[in-house]
Amino acid sequence: MSNLPAAAGGSPVRSTKLYYSHQSINDADIQAVVDVLKSDYLTCGPHITECEDKLCRMTGARHAVLCSNDTAALHIACMAAGIGPGDEVITTPITFAASANCALYVGAKPVFADIDPETYNIDPKSVEAHITPHTKAVVAVDFGGQSVDQDAFLALKKRYGFVYIEDAAHSIGTTYKGAPVGTFADMTTFSFHAVKTITGGEGGAVLTDSDELYEKLLLFRTHGITRDPKLMVHKPDGPWYYEMLTLAPNYRITDMQAALISSQLDRLDVFGRRKKEIVRRYDEAFGRMKGILVQKETEGSDSVRHLYILRLDPAHLRIDRKAFFEAMGAENIICNVHYIPIYYFPYYEQLGYPKGLCPNAEALYDTMLTIPLFYAMTDQDVEDVITAVQKITDYYGY
Ligand SMILES: *Cc1c(COP(=O)(O)O)cnc(C)c1O
Repeated sequence: MSNLPAAAGGSPVRSTKLYYSHQSINDADIQAVVDVLKSDYLTCGPHITECEDKLCRMTGARHAVLCSNDTAALHIACMAAGIGPGDEVITTPITFAASANCALYVGAKPVFADIDPETYNIDPKSVEAHITPHTKAVVAVDFGGQSVDQDAFLALKKRYGFVYIEDAAHSIGTTYKGAPVGTFADMTTFSFHAVKTITGGEGGAVLTDSDELYEKLLLFRTHGITRDPKLMVHKPDGPWYYEMLTLAPNYRITDMQAALISSQLDRLDVFGRRKKEIVRRYDEAFGRMKGILVQKETEGSDSVRHLYILRLDPAHLRIDRKAFFEAMGAENIICNVHYIPIYYFPYYEQLGYPKGLCPNAEALYDTMLTIPLFYAMTDQDVEDVITAVQKITDYYGY
């Protein structure tokens, strides 16, 4: 019987595996990389600035600093913000580890605020409840691609004076009340990892409107070294001269990656439109499925989603998340889970973070899974996902 879940003895919805994400590389992308390989510069070449300029034009930010990945971007953002030992940095536990690790890199303490149970974004009310005299920064994550409640964060920033860092790894292309992500926080970071909407294989960027932060970000990207005579302590003794002013890592990106990111950025609108189409179809189908809860859109956000999250409603399903995840796998739809609350990791456990810190985040983790969402999905792929979820909820629902 074809409408029996494969996990219960039926035949799978599809014969080939569909993964939760896949990059879309076209001939122009390939040519852009090949052109760099045939050029004079493999790193620190013209494509870095070309790509930075493009990010500024697309978002309206004054400055962009391209670097090796978003983890590096978050690290140099924390360095530029002057965060250090004794400082606290508030973030969400429902994110990739890098959003909190960046505080640890600079010797500060990550503090976890809970999420909103409907949008799954970091809840500004919980952030406010965690503010202390030691709070130096907030790293807000646009979870799944939805902008955080920018008005609320800007109001908190005004009241408490912290540095507002936005980890926009998921949300390139998203707008909030008409303005692109990248124009709200003191510093906004992007990821160009292979699973993200725009990719360079690896890659990251920090956007800022502040000249002062920009100058620091440039230094921290490359060994604390400058070639700008205005910043130098000593008089240059020749044209070769440069100075190391502070200790910093090497987080440069190659020109091949910059060219690939730049070429991909030309299709951001195309990627975004298609993703929105898929999300509309998913919302319509899952919005009325018993046992399934869909992520509520943050007010004001017009989102280009990176993730599509299904939340299971245990009151209407006889199976738990693990069994559901495996049942989807049996249909050849390979899901994922985003994310394990950061403070569940042994490293954080050892630092003394107990379970129970963020009840909404923990309840979400127990019931969530990520289904496929990427530009190159065909309409049939989308319908396969819906059919699989329908079969499973029909069979195991009550
Ligand atoms: C992917 C991701 C990162 C890390 O990005 P890299 O470019 O892989 O370093 C950080 N934060 C979030 C929310 C992410 O999804």
